[in-house]
Amino acid sequence: MKIAFKKLGSQPLHFEVNSDSTLFSGDLIMKKSNLAQLNGTITGSISIPCDLCAEEVERALNEEVTFYLSDGIFEDNNDELDIVEIDKSMIDLEEILYSEIELIKSDYFCCKNCEGTSLDREF
Ligand SMILES: [Zn+2]
Repeated sequence: MKIAFKKLGSQPLHFEVNSDSTLFSGDLIMKKSNLAQLNGTITGSISIPCDLCAEEVERALNEEVTFYLSDGIFEDNNDELDIVEIDKSMIDLEEILYSEIELIKSDYFCCKNCEGTSLDREF
C-alpha cells in the first residue's frame, strides 16, 4: 500500500497493511506543509531466532509505532523528532512495516529454554 504525500490532510487517514503474519494499522496526519505524523500499531507474530541457540521462536507483537515522515529533506534542525524522509512523495507502508520488523528482529531475544542460562547476566 502506497499513499501519496499530497493526499494527506488535517483529517487522519487510516491505513492497514499485512505482511506474512503481521498487521500494521494506524493513521497518517499532516502536521506541516511537508511533515506528516504516523501513529500505528504492529500486531500479529513473527518468528525470531534465539540469540543463544538460534532456534526460531514465534513471538507475539504489539508494538506502538510513532514517527514523522517528511516529503524530501527536512530542513528544520530539530533533533527531538524521529523523522523518516521519503522518496518521490510516496509513503510506502509495506517498506515501513518491513523495516520496523527488521528493527524488532535486531533486538536481543532469547527463547524460554535459554532464559537464565546467559553467563553475563546481571544479578
Ligand atoms: Zn534459545
